[in-house]
Amino acid sequence: MTVHLVRLGGSILRHEFRIEGMVQPSLEALVTRTIDRFYAVTGPLAASLGVEKVYTVHLEQKGGNNYAPGNRLNLNTLNLTEWTITHELAHALDAAHGWRLSQQMRAHTGSGFLFKALHYARPAWKVFWYRVGSPPPPCGVDKNFNSLEDFAETVTAYIFPAEAHRRAEQRGYAYEKWGYTHFHETPRGQFFANLLNREAIKTPSG
Ligand SMILES: [Zn+2]
Repeated sequence: MTVHLVRLGGSILRHEFRIEGMVQPSLEALVTRTIDRFYAVTGPLAASLGVEKVYTVHLEQKGGNNYAPGNRLNLNTLNLTEWTITHELAHALDAAHGWRLSQQMRAHTGSGFLFKALHYARPAWKVFWYRVGSPPPPCGVDKNFNSLEDFAETVTAYIFPAEAHRRAEQRGYAYEKWGYTHFHETPRGQFFANLLNREAIKTPSG
């Protein structure tokens, strides 16, 4: 196990990441670099909670990538990317805020399920999928899309806008369809920028 400490920008608070499992130098470097980049952007939001956190990053050659209760990030080491790590860190950030960040974004963008029960009964039926208000979605929509994924994708797209642009286009959701050329210009990009600015102002030493 290795321990990686991150100081949250503009505060004395730190988050601790315990990296365990298949820890190899190149993977560890990828994970720590991505964590640092994530908090360089989202530090004010994380610091606004006023608490220090300890996260476990579990690296394994099998299983899916997910954020699990108990501040745990499970990552599959095969084809692991900065994008995937950032996406799971975004879930962790939302979870730390009691999932309020994704709920705020859902309300702000006017998104949501029309008939949630029918969506779960018929997940393949596009007509019941999560409706993306204030488009474009960060990188498209599928049957698993919901407010939590919308927020995690928004944070990830905000940090990696070029990659987000490429992914959106690939899935038939090019930003240009809605008159945008860059994720930061989109309603979701603006929402997240405002969230960061608001917290930056609130952080006393920021
Ligand atoms: Zn996710």
